Amino acid sequence: MTILEHEPLAPYTSFECGGKADRLVICDNHEDVRQALTQEINDKQLWLLGYGCNVLISDKGLPGTTLLFRGGEINLEGGELIADAGVWWDDLVTYAIDQKLFGLELTSGVPGGVGAAIVGNIAAYGQAVADTLSWIEVFDTETKKIYTMKPDELGFSYRFSNLQTDRNRRLVVLRAAFTLSPHITHELKYQTAIDIAEREGYDTNTLAGRRASVLGAREVAGSLWDYRDDTHSNKTAGSFFRNPQATREQAEHIISFDETGKSADLIKKMNSVHGGDSLRISAAHVLLAAGFERGQTWGDVRLHPQHVLKIENVGNAKAQDIYNVSQEIVRTVQNELGITLVPEVRFLGEFKH
Ligand SMILES: Cc1cc2nc3c(=O)[nH]c(=O)nc-3n(C[C@H](O)[C@H](O)[C@H](O)COP(=O)(O)OP(=O)(O)OC[C@H]3O[C@@H](n4cnc5c(N)ncnc54)[C@H](O)[C@@H]3O)c2cc1C
Repeated sequence: MTILEHEPLAPYTSFECGGKADRLVICDNHEDVRQALTQEINDKQLWLLGYGCNVLISDKGLPGTTLLFRGGEINLEGGELIADAGVWWDDLVTYAIDQKLFGLELTSGVPGGVGAAIVGNIAAYGQAVADTLSWIEVFDTETKKIYTMKPDELGFSYRFSNLQTDRNRRLVVLRAAFTLSPHITHELKYQTAIDIAEREGYDTNTLAGRRASVLGAREVAGSLWDYRDDTHSNKTAGSFFRNPQATREQAEHIISFDETGKSADLIKKMNSVHGGDSLRISAAHVLLAAGFERGQTWGDVRLHPQHVLKIENVGNAKAQDIYNVSQEIVRTVQNELGITLVPEVRFLGEFKH
């Protein structure tokens, strides 16, 4: 365990902005976290961070204690794959693939840690964390007790678990277990990945072929980010907003703003693969329909030139600058289309409204 005072948090996040932590406690395994939470941390104000790729931290920093959990073990025990919440998600995926187990391979390359993956029910290319999770172990910072929770207690839905609710913010995920299969569990339906597989000759019935197809598609989509990469070339938190639910009329109208030549049927299929429902429409199309443009820039804040839903820090943007752009988008979409966009990115600390 390492404890640092007044530590800048920007280097621990993918946006590379934000202020300092009053106190930063860094842990690299679940036992370390348990010890820190039992003996070291008594602050009422506790902030949790994994790999910082889905948060926007206030320029004023975070008062109290920030607990950063990165690292830990992966083990296969009695048919379950058990990982510390600090494990880098893609290390878990490659471990499963090495064990010839299906169920996680389509989430290859999703950045971040196992803990946040559960909190956010991450999903990609038709596979979600909730599909294979068997239990989690949590530390309750109020009672200082550890207990296990099953998926049916976590209220999973699209990009949601009830660990995000105010009531459950006191729970720190320590470990998670997954039940995987020696046989294919999910059909690969996403067209970009299928096209890449055909072009490159990858066999999408194999784990290696599925991983290569998905990583290829993620590269095209600008969706690769690694905390070990210090080129600082992709300062984004991925898709900034969740795909919203729309009425059938809104969906038909918004789909017409796709300018890439895809058919409406293909777009509906993609929407249902990403959101589980064809009426959960692409937030990227919503932005385009509200008048925002790919590559649109406000100082050092930019909408990705191809993937408009990714807000980027292309220089030395402040967290407040990124926040302001996100709020302008929310307001405009509400006024123009009557759709409420909900951020996927978590805002930590104080922002000016
Ligand atoms: C380029 C890029 C592409 C992306 N692509 C996808 C994608 O395809 N699919 C997808 O679903 N997401 C995607 N994301 C979002 C991101 O990968 C996920 O949200 C990921 O789970 C974030 O992990 P993290 O460890 O960085 O979380 P952090 O940003 O550190 O934290 C996120 C939230 O989880 C909480 N948290 C972290 N650890 C714990 C813990 N142990 N216990 C309790 N709470 C905890 C934090 O307090 C915070 O509220 C992408 C992001 C980027 C930058």
